[in-house]
Amino acid sequence: MTDHEPATMPAEETAEPVVRYERRGSAALVTLNRPRYRNAQNSVMTYALDDAFERAVNDNDVRVIVLAGAGDHFSAGHDIGTPGRDVHVPYDRKAVIWWDHTDKAGADARYAREMEVYLGMCRRWREMPKPSIAMVHGACIAGGLMLAWVCDLIIASDDAFFADPVVRMGIPGVEYFAHPWVLGPRFAKEALFTGDRFTAQRAYELGMVNRVVPRSELAETTFAMADKIATMPPFGLSLVKRAVNQCEDLMGMRPGMDSTFGLHHVAHAHNAETGADSLAGMDARSMKSASQAP
Ligand code: ZN
Repeated sequence: MTDHEPATMPAEETAEPVVRYERRGSAALVTLNRPRYRNAQNSVMTYALDDAFERAVNDNDVRVIVLAGAGDHFSAGHDIGTPGRDVHVPYDRKAVIWWDHTDKAGADARYAREMEVYLGMCRRWREMPKPSIAMVHGACIAGGLMLAWVCDLIIASDDAFFADPVVRMGIPGVEYFAHPWVLGPRFAKEALFTGDRFTAQRAYELGMVNRVVPRSELAETTFAMADKIATMPPFGLSLVKRAVNQCEDLMGMRPGMDSTFGLHHVAHAHNAETGADSLAGMDARSMKSASQAP
């Protein structure tokens, strides 16, 4: 993040909702909706996403939550350079108890912001009491992985691809550091060391996704799965979801993420101290040009 961000949203950002909410039978369909920017996540999207999830949780007729991306891609990651980037805009803080980052400086500001909108929000969404399914197509990069990983199931089309290339910025992976648990330690290292993309089929072989289907069958497969899950008792689903999440945390995921979040912020601080900014002077364009095809 840099110190020269616009404090207001451009008109083009406010014309369309950045997150769409629809009902599809017993499922709520929540759609990331900044297709022009490959659904890059700014804070306004983060909070709109949180509102949509809260709405789905509070609607007794919604049994399953489906998360999708509008346009050609699921999500290219966090917004690191669109006109709507809103790093220095204050938002309601709902995920963690921390102070507003906008009147702070340096690591104090970065830590407060990322604890809230990245790690905090992702944990909050992972713990929603209803089953969630990420319906992934196209790019699912860095911060895009975080959104897919917080969902209980991931159904991918065969054109989906995944990567966490932020080591190019000198940063040891995205804030929600689930990599060793969802990819296994060996492949997590390869994916992080190289920053290379990996295919939906590879993600399936690693156990990171539940199904890989042709793009034309993605929605049908996802909503068929949602309908099947919806026949189970809601309270039972909430309990078994919590049971698996608790066991995953007992396998070290939560304390692992807490410890790696500190390393992540050492890297941001090092970049800010020694270079142009906390992202090592890189933006969406330079990150994209450096990335390799699968
Ligand atoms: Zn960060």
